[in-house]
Amino acid sequence: MLLVLLAIGWVPMALMAASLLGSYQSRAVSSRSTELQNQCRILANQLLSYHYLDDPSSELINGELSQLAGMYDGRIIIIDQDFQAIRDTYDLIEDKYVPSEEVIRCFQGQTANQLTPDGFIEIAIPIKESDAETVQGVLLASASTDSIRVNAEALSGNAAVFFLVYGILVTALAILLSHLLVRPVERIRAGLHEISSGHSTEDLAVKSYTETEEISEEFNKIVTQMRVLDESRQEFVSNVSHELKTPLTSMKVLADSLLMQEEAPVELYKEFMGDIAEEIERENKIITDLLSLVKMDKKAATLNIESADINDLLELILKRLRPIASKKNIEMVLESFRPVTAEVDVGRLTLAFTNLVENAIKYNKENGWVHVSLDADHKFFYVKIMDSGMGIPEESLDYIFERFYRVDKSHSNEIDGTGLGLAIAKSAVLVHKGAIKVSSQVGEGTTFSVRIPLNYIA
Ligand code: ADP
Repeated sequence: MLLVLLAIGWVPMALMAASLLGSYQSRAVSSRSTELQNQCRILANQLLSYHYLDDPSSELINGELSQLAGMYDGRIIIIDQDFQAIRDTYDLIEDKYVPSEEVIRCFQGQTANQLTPDGFIEIAIPIKESDAETVQGVLLASASTDSIRVNAEALSGNAAVFFLVYGILVTALAILLSHLLVRPVERIRAGLHEISSGHSTEDLAVKSYTETEEISEEFNKIVTQMRVLDESRQEFVSNVSHELKTPLTSMKVLADSLLMQEEAPVELYKEFMGDIAEEIERENKIITDLLSLVKMDKKAATLNIESADINDLLELILKRLRPIASKKNIEMVLESFRPVTAEVDVGRLTLAFTNLVENAIKYNKENGWVHVSLDADHKFFYVKIMDSGMGIPEESLDYIFERFYRVDKSHSNEIDGTGLGLAIAKSAVLVHKGAIKVSSQVGEGTTFSVRIPLNYIA
């Protein structure tokens, strides 16, 4: 930010100063050379009217020549028709012949005007009557541009002082501005650091800019989500520990009571060992369910999607569960409206539907029924699992998909379960981007409706 502000302050100013100084110098040189040229033209006319080329002794003209040369800190040479220098204000080449290219061209009527590399303006003007063709002589004049250079240097000096002051001000302003502009970002960084290092649990609130306010809000949302996740993870761990401990506690009690008796009868041993075996079975079931749940929670990348016949899948599930249903003399019907083939993870979906049908049998009454239906449209297939069971009270409907939730803890003693079956079913449905709903009437029965896309959506 500081560098950007410094560049904004400095670069245009430096470019402007460089271009102004450059243009001052070139304009000053060009105006001086025009001025000199005009003066020389006037002088050339005077030379003619005083017949100076025939008699270069005119005091007046010589005085003027010296004055003009002095004024421009330069030199004037007058050359006659024979290429002989008749007057040189430096008195160096008088009477000498000057057959230079420049002079020859001037005798042909051309005026010359140039700037030499060492900084001299050089002018060559033909001396002739305005309406005549013949050139009678040549006036060579040179003028120094030293004074222009000196002026430009003085100007540069002033500009340097101005720049120094301007630079100090711009730099100070840039430091101040960059500090002010970056401060909210710095506050966000500090706030994030406080939170990430665990020193603060307060919400981030940097309201200086709309953007920082939005960043704060989004960050607070993420933190809230993470806290909720963390809480639910802790709750899950404590539930798991509790559920896993319950069978172990029972087993310990059973074993201890046997050990405490000096001579317990064999029947008692058998009975207690039977109970212990049941508890082991329960522990085993919880662990199996937990492992299934963990597998379900893994990301979609681990899905094993294949094209499957859903009618066959449901038929197989019902066939496997029929022996359990027949114990309570429960009638099981599969009603299929059309053949359905869909892209699914067969393993996960089988587990989900098995849990739902198993529940429909488990929480059913003697001689009841379980009705499974399959239908589809062009996008989804729909599976309904209806039963004539005990139903779920309305206040529990919101919780039954939660891990370890069981409707009435008292009937959990009668009916075996871990409270994980529906959580497993729901996460299997969600991983297929599907939906699961429940409707129930206590004493009459329950219906679970599942909707899953025919084509897997990644
Ligand atoms: P569980 O191992 O206890 O069956 P689930 O997660 O499968 O655990 O079910 C959670 C609770 O929802 C069950 O304990 C039961 O009270 C209730 N429930 C599930 N399905 C049915 C159903 N078809 N009829 C009545 N209650 C049900």
